[in-house]
Amino acid sequence: MTKSESLFERARKVAPGGVHSPVRGFRGVGGVPRFIESARGACLRDVEGKAYVDFCLSWGPLILGHGDEEVAREVHRAIDRGWTYGAAEPYSLELAELIVSKIPWAEKVRFVNSGTEAVMSALRVARAATNRPKILKFDGCYHGHTDSMLVRAGSGLAEMASPDSAGVSAAVASETIVVPLNDLKALEEAFGLHGPQIAAVIVEPVPANNGLLLQTDEFLPALCKIARKAGALVIFDEVITGFRVAFGGMAELTGLKPDLVTYGKIIGGGFPVGAYGGRVELMDLVAPSGPVYQAGTLSANPVAMAAGLATLKKLLRDNPYEKLAARTEKLARSLEKVTGAKVQNFASLFWPVLGKVATADGMVRAPNEIPAEQKGRFAEVFHALLARGFYLAPSGYEVAFLSTAHSDTQLDGLVQALGEISGRSAS
Ligand SMILES: *Cc1c(COP(=O)(O)O)cnc(C)c1O
Repeated sequence: MTKSESLFERARKVAPGGVHSPVRGFRGVGGVPRFIESARGACLRDVEGKAYVDFCLSWGPLILGHGDEEVAREVHRAIDRGWTYGAAEPYSLELAELIVSKIPWAEKVRFVNSGTEAVMSALRVARAATNRPKILKFDGCYHGHTDSMLVRAGSGLAEMASPDSAGVSAAVASETIVVPLNDLKALEEAFGLHGPQIAAVIVEPVPANNGLLLQTDEFLPALCKIARKAGALVIFDEVITGFRVAFGGMAELTGLKPDLVTYGKIIGGGFPVGAYGGRVELMDLVAPSGPVYQAGTLSANPVAMAAGLATLKKLLRDNPYEKLAARTEKLARSLEKVTGAKVQNFASLFWPVLGKVATADGMVRAPNEIPAEQKGRFAEVFHALLARGFYLAPSGYEVAFLSTAHSDTQLDGLVQALGEISGRSAS
């Protein structure tokens, strides 16, 4: 028995599925999750002492890689001062000022502890601001695990969404409208049916939680137009894309200004931080300045604030975005060459499509366009890569991340390993 196997056996006795977030449990790829003991740069090391080049990177927060020295220094300094005060302090002020100064559509921000909380709170603000009950989301976008977002489409647009998790009530689900991605007609129809009831449209401006479902360039501008014509707010959920595709996320890249924006992942530099922001009149609805209640015992934790601040300052100083995108583009094209599979990529995100794509333009833009073989073939590739020392997110529906810590040698290694694997499986 390996150490990971015996730890997993113990873990399953004390935690559901042995893990504290579902995909970590390797259900999507089979086998026993590797227990990770430490990490540095672009590498994870498991309890057996085996090293892996990491393309999961804690699911997105670690754009600078593991254990970045500048971040570590600020975190140590913060801990030496004490680690939570439950009082006003200058550290969240500094991070908020930095964000507000660089991201004009976030005139004020409120820090919370996760992306889920940021979304949950932004939806509450949207409902309060519009005095409307319903939220429109897209099938294939993930917005954390708040009840109203754990829903799937009903049988028709006139149907309300149904719960997509046990424990979500039909009543809560009925307040959410689910529309397909890449289908502006369906969006218009939904607004035609429910327009005056819709408080907000929430969207991952680059859907990256169900594969990397790249939308056409017209999608976001049209969405904003349709929503605003009906008096609904636009919420960009930039929990993955914020500080990743550009410092100001997709809003910066597209020039589209969301009414409310949610952040998570990179904003805490690997510590638990989420945030939501928007125009002053919307954010001033939040307690204690307004009637929308939202609070947190450990919100704006000073150690997490220091990690986030160090991360964002380094990103602003080094501006790694163009280089990261170019390296990802090169990697994706090399991977396509050696595997024959399609690799969809955007900025420092990439996602292999394992199977035949049946769409007219050859792109996968919606969940129902993902090849049926994706799950099975990804599981094989995942384990073959794991054996060779490469760690992808353990699911074929999750994207891979590039960090500034990856070396060219490590990227070439991935290309070579996938070449070997494809060659073998083809023979
Ligand atoms: C990860 C993610 C969330 C949820 O964030 P947590 O910190 O896991 O709660 C919400 N929205 C998007 C787009 C995400 O990628």
